[in-house]
Amino acid sequence: MDNKLLVENRECGEFTACCVELTIEDPDLVKLPGVKCKNLHKSGGCKIYNERPKTCRDWYCMWRFMPQLSNEWRPDLKGVMIKRVFNNIPPGYEGKIALNFEIIGKKSAIHDMDFFEVLGGYIVQGFPCFISTSKPRRAANMVLLNNKLLPLYETRNLELLKSTLSDALNHSAKQHSDLLSIKDGKVISKSSGLF
Ligand code: SF4
Repeated sequence: MDNKLLVENRECGEFTACCVELTIEDPDLVKLPGVKCKNLHKSGGCKIYNERPKTCRDWYCMWRFMPQLSNEWRPDLKGVMIKRVFNNIPPGYEGKIALNFEIIGKKSAIHDMDFFEVLGGYIVQGFPCFISTSKPRRAANMVLLNNKLLPLYETRNLELLKSTLSDALNHSAKQHSDLLSIKDGKVISKSSGLF
């Protein structure tokens, strides 16, 4: 995304969850998802902030781009990091911005009305939305939500929405996901080669 589209006056501050959650493959730093970066200071903050790799300078979660998200949606507060998805966009959604709602904190994050409203807004507008749980050193199991949730949003069936969303999150958590490792400066999947 173009950094000119960042929400004005919104800063990450001391928040450093992306220094744990992100997969980084940069000439200067290779790091697995869900693992603390070696440069992350114990008390928070980057030890090499002024010389941090390009990926760290350029990458922002969607909270930084979406003015409609309140400050409570800062990922460490909400327990949800919204990431833009660029690969494996399902047929029928080509050209749309795809979003993964990655649960990085308590699963109960998906049960508040604010979460339902924001997620529903994107689903009803036809943006492909996924959910996944953060698992250290594992590829994310992203579960597409649109097909099952769209009819429930249209009929405002809140109870069924809640249970369907929980099922999707459990499915993501329980499904086998590839164990990742680093080889020759690349993140690789132990079972299927390059990630
Ligand atoms: S190099 Fe610094 S900014 Fe980049 S992931 Fe590590 S701690 Fe975070």
